[in-house]
Amino acid sequence: MADARVLPNPTRARISLAAWRHNLLQLKAASPNAKLMAVIKANAYGHGAVQAAGALDAADAFGVARLGEGVELREAGIVKPIVLMEGVFTAAELALALEFQLDLVVHADYQVELLEQHASSIPRVVWLKLDTGMHRLGFQAGESASAAARLRALPAVGELRVMTHFSSADERDAPETRAQLQRFESARLGLGSIEAGLANSAAVLSIPASHREWVRAGIALYGGSPLQGRTAESLGLKPVMTLSTEVIALRSIKSGDAVGYGATWRASRPSRIATLAAGYADGIPRHLPSGTPVLVAGRRASLVGRVSMDMITVDVTDLPEVSVGSTAVLWGEGLPVDEIASAAGTISYELLCGVTRRVSFDYF
Ligand SMILES: *Cc1c(COP(=O)(O)O)cnc(C)c1O
Repeated sequence: MADARVLPNPTRARISLAAWRHNLLQLKAASPNAKLMAVIKANAYGHGAVQAAGALDAADAFGVARLGEGVELREAGIVKPIVLMEGVFTAAELALALEFQLDLVVHADYQVELLEQHASSIPRVVWLKLDTGMHRLGFQAGESASAAARLRALPAVGELRVMTHFSSADERDAPETRAQLQRFESARLGLGSIEAGLANSAAVLSIPASHREWVRAGIALYGGSPLQGRTAESLGLKPVMTLSTEVIALRSIKSGDAVGYGATWRASRPSRIATLAAGYADGIPRHLPSGTPVLVAGRRASLVGRVSMDMITVDVTDLPEVSVGSTAVLWGEGLPVDEIASAAGTISYELLCGVTRRVSFDYF
């Protein structure tokens, strides 16, 4: 926050710089022959992009999705290579990308044309993106050689590299991943000497055959598991964000009493209910079901009733030590974000990106 006063706020995201560095070292150890692009798009998956760039200084480059994300890092004094992973969409964006020395992904003909028409003479790294099966962005294998030739002819293209993105690397032995690797390799053969990158976090940790000159890691840097059925801890990753709040009220209710909007949960015994100062306006998914774990005063308790905008309610009947002011962890240290994401029917990425600006961030 810009305000010089630090106002008290019970709802905080504590961001561990040590965990960031630890996770980066784990990823580097898993891909020792590759350079690592740390993906810090979407405000570093909700953690703070400028702080991420500082903590992840040992990365070889940073990846962002949007022009504004790259400009924010440059204006904060980050000098490392920054790759715009969706490239630019207009001539005005191209001019700014070049002014701020951002490297470009080129995934479509119109982006080649923008470079042909407006390029400056200051050469940048350009990543040619291939569509090997995701069918979202990129040139088809058969188009890659001519796109590469056009780009290499431009003074604005200092070095051409090639990349693709996996659709299913989080699944063990996915046939789609094998097919994408094969399509990528055969297209690359037609491109001459060129650096390449395919692997996201999941592939860094589970598909060594996909490591090339570069890997691109996001979620694992933040301590989320990129692999279905594997915990982050079992992969040697540490949670970077711990989202916590405090108990602001306590009450005893009778068996049969309901809690929260819609009276969706009723006590089946005399119960003690703690009200916590975090809700969907802080980034707690509203559709989290009753029974989702919350760590209150260090012990697991269950969310009961609906998530409100500013509050949640938790059954602390079995935790007599809980009092007003007790700390509650929503995810992070002691309560993996992957577990809460799974309760919400989503992935850790969405929860981490969804923490709102009402939450206070502490870096330590
Ligand atoms: C977001 C992104 C990544 C990082 O993926 P993770 O699963 O978070 O490691 C890598 N490459 C591209 C192109 C991306 O958009």
